[in-house]
Amino acid sequence: MIETLSNRAREPHRLLASLLDILMPQDCLVCGEAAGESGLCAACLAELPRRPRSACPVCALPGLGGGPCGQCLRELPAYDATLALFDYAFPIDVLIHALKYRHQLSVAAFLAAELCALGESAALGADLILPMPLHVRRLAERGFNQAVELARPLARSTGLPMELARVRKLRDTPPQASLARDERLRSPRGVFCCDRALDGLHVLVVDDVMTTGATLNELARCLKRQGAVRVTNLVVARTPAPA
Ligand SMILES: [Zn+2]
Ligand SMILES: [Zn+2]
Repeated sequence: MIETLSNRAREPHRLLASLLDILMPQDCLVCGEAAGESGLCAACLAELPRRPRSACPVCALPGLGGGPCGQCLRELPAYDATLALFDYAFPIDVLIHALKYRHQLSVAAFLAAELCALGESAALGADLILPMPLHVRRLAERGFNQAVELARPLARSTGLPMELARVRKLRDTPPQASLARDERLRSPRGVFCCDRALDGLHVLVVDDVMTTGATLNELARCLKRQGAVRVTNLVVARTPAPA
């Protein structure tokens, strides 16, 4: 314990944050009221913008009575299925921002637990968990990859291996939300590189936000070139259908 603490004391802010998490009763991550172990109070939990069950099984946009949506019927993406927990709307957008730019570990724990609840069934039949890779420059800036923070508890609870090294993002693409839709759909071509054989494998890709799906589609294309037979996306939030 002492050794662990002295190692962790090199990161005094993180040490303080994790000690506070243990010692203090937790406040709701959204409204600040007293919260249970989950990190959100009952009222905020009940109001989270969960995705409808009737979503398209392929892309998670609103579907036709549980079947694939019109867009997926016209042109199937490279991935086979998408599970999304929430709409990218308040307070999920705020929580994801806190995770990404302020590295709030309590937010990571909350979202990862929610993802585990959904992902454990999705993980059935998967062989490998792949967090969406971050370009090295972005990783250096941020110091961590939020998709890894989300995927690690799922890997632990399912016992599935997590691939961290052999799928790389070659270009630092601008955040999808800052681009016009046409640019977004074009931008990620050839952006991933994988030097691992994936013959016959079902890969579960974990990401925080799915916007147009173009980046996930390009990643799935890359994985399938390496022999993957099935790619399932598991994302915390999905933006509503583009107008
Ligand atoms: Zn609350
Ligand atoms: Zn669809």
